[in-house]
Amino acid sequence: MQQRKFGPTGRSVPVIGQGTWNMEGDDRAGALAALRRGIDLGMTHIDTAELYGSGKVESMIAPVIAEYRDRLFLVSKVMPSNASRAGTISACERSLKRLGTDRLDCYLLHWPGSHPLADTIAAFDRLAADGKILSWGLSNFDESGLKQALAIAGPGKIACNQVLYHLRERAIEHAVLPWCEANHVALVAYSPFGSGDFPDPSSPGGKVLGKIAATHRATNYQIALAFLTQRPAVFAIPKASRSTHAEDNAVAEAVTLSADEIAAISSAFPRGSRRGLPMI
Ligand code: NAP
Repeated sequence: MQQRKFGPTGRSVPVIGQGTWNMEGDDRAGALAALRRGIDLGMTHIDTAELYGSGKVESMIAPVIAEYRDRLFLVSKVMPSNASRAGTISACERSLKRLGTDRLDCYLLHWPGSHPLADTIAAFDRLAADGKILSWGLSNFDESGLKQALAIAGPGKIACNQVLYHLRERAIEHAVLPWCEANHVALVAYSPFGSGDFPDPSSPGGKVLGKIAATHRATNYQIALAFLTQRPAVFAIPKASRSTHAEDNAVAEAVTLSADEIAAISSAFPRGSRRGLPMI
């Protein structure tokens, strides 16, 4: 699995990782088997959040985290409603307890909220000084929010911005991705398959993907991941509850698209003119 430097952290992180949203509703044994299979194949970036199943997902994946802890890049997120100075620290400690670990590799503010960002960042700094988090980042931040965070934290502190990015939702390419690239912040694409609402193979866009996929002996999903992660600042965190899907995702980064293929996909799924940051 190809690895890339994750923003300013100095850590090498696989281009493709694994999401866990809604996992509490999945068949437990099957979902954990898929997670393990993905880790075995190099998808060691695991994304979770206190929000997911109101903590149930963090507890559910704890046995897998325990098995593989030192190999993982483990990410969780604080909900904006908890993101006061003291609240962020308590939320992180609850997440660590549920996950059965003493540290997170990266801790994110799930989306901008009403607590002052300076307080959340001060709490992140405290957690980092105490060794409870190794880096911190943001999620669902637009360009102006990112600028505000940079003004508070200074350069080299924001590890990543995790945002909605899939073939039919490319708004981040206008301003958010260029800002992240210019400021050495990793961009993590969430819901890279549109949360399961993936282009049908019989649709015009699906046919374009299918033709390219056939050339690479790949699936349409693998072509989508290759397209989304073509720029070196970008990582993706698809979620798979089936091991076969985890296996497919783990080898997607091996697909290298030609300039013509990238142009064909781009024109089948135009990025549009909307600059605002979309969110699930
Ligand atoms: P997603 O990854 O876009 O799509 C998941 C769907 O794709 C599932 O139905 C899955 O099926 C299917 N799938 C996965 N791999 C496949 C493959 N190789 N071939 C065919 N189908 C495949 O969904 P998501 O959960 O919305 O997003 C991924 C992660 O991003 C989340 O789990 C979460 O960790 C993160 N996220 C973050 C935010 C945020 O605000 N920061 C918001 C949303 C999501 P099976 O389950 O049957 O395998």
